[in-house]
Amino acid sequence: MKKFAEWSLFSFFPRHCACCDVRIPGSRMFCEECEKNLPRITGEICMNCGREKKECTCRKSSNYYTALAAPFYFEGNVREGIHRFKFRNSGVNSKAYAAGMAAAVSERYAGVHFDFVTEVPVTKRAERERGYNQCSLLARSLSEISGIPYKKGILKKIYETEKQHGLNYYLRRGNLTGVFDSDCPGEIKDKTILLCDDISTSGETLGECAKMLWLYGAKDIYCITAALTKMRGDK
Ligand SMILES: [Zn+2]
Ligand SMILES: [Zn+2]
Repeated sequence: MKKFAEWSLFSFFPRHCACCDVRIPGSRMFCEECEKNLPRITGEICMNCGREKKECTCRKSSNYYTALAAPFYFEGNVREGIHRFKFRNSGVNSKAYAAGMAAAVSERYAGVHFDFVTEVPVTKRAERERGYNQCSLLARSLSEISGIPYKKGILKKIYETEKQHGLNYYLRRGNLTGVFDSDCPGEIKDKTILLCDDISTSGETLGECAKMLWLYGAKDIYCITAALTKMRGDK
């Protein structure tokens, strides 16, 4: 039975490299060339902003979340792959990035017991238009790989905001105030929560979501994203 399931998966969902989209053997997530050139975040890492210490410019600014982690920088082939996954409806790629996220969680958050993983929400309208919320796909795949239970829709995004991208630091902050809320505060109280986003630039979206979780009594909040932009020259 298992053989048949595997066979049908291979025949109906041929694998493509999660970065450059070339066809690859079903056992791989990235083609050899991309695997070699993944912009991994490794070595000595700042737990506060998730970047390598040599890339950290956060000066340990205080957050509503305890730590931020990601497997990759948002550049090169990962930038290409995430764009494809995010805008061109290739949701299958979530598995490749979620595998990297799961590895980052077990390595950097070793010993933390998470009650559940949930996602940064999009508005209902945005989800309808795209057909899926890319952060939910990542959170669900991450849950399947890591065994941390997944809870969908803990947070909701109440209205559409201007793209954070292109706004200056102060406008970005103001742009998100009061945008997120929850319909299920009882699920949040006293819980250790893993909050999942696709890309983080300066952490404001995660910070605002974490603030709501904190206001509803979360015990601890850790963030995980597929990729982080390099901070240099961002502010
Ligand atoms: Zn590739
Ligand atoms: Zn830092």
